[in-house]
Amino acid sequence: MERIITTGNIGRFDFSFLVNFLFGYLRGLQAGREVRNLLKTISDKKLLKLWGQAVIERAGRRCEYPDCNIHYTQLHPHHLYSRRYVTMRYNLDAGISLCPYHHTMGGLSAHHDPDFKSVLVATGVRTEEFFDKLREERNRIQKNTAAWKLECYERLKAYL
Ligand SMILES: [Zn+2]
Repeated sequence: MERIITTGNIGRFDFSFLVNFLFGYLRGLQAGREVRNLLKTISDKKLLKLWGQAVIERAGRRCEYPDCNIHYTQLHPHHLYSRRYVTMRYNLDAGISLCPYHHTMGGLSAHHDPDFKSVLVATGVRTEEFFDKLREERNRIQKNTAAWKLECYERLKAYL
């Protein structure tokens, strides 16, 4: 008697386990397919490139450093906060258009001057409130999912 009950329990367990496993597997396949389709539409590399183009377009294709009079032939999009933050990575607000001198080359460049952001605030290129809001968004936890990439792409499109 005891053995039958035991066998019955094991049988039910195995059955529900199998059903759960199969449904989980099918869900995984479906989710995987959706993610792959979205990623096919927009890759990280492509989105970063579009972000850069949008940053430069929004700035009117000029260096945004205050009173920049450097003669430059190219512009660089710069992340005001590292692109390692998912919320900054494709965020137009996190970008600024700079000439090579003000991006990386000069002593006053974004990559060399620790007071770079303070200069932007002091000269009115960006405001203190702008950076407060940007930092808030920077600190928000966000996974870099396909859905997130698509959302960011939709926001960038207006400037492309
Ligand atoms: Zn410049």
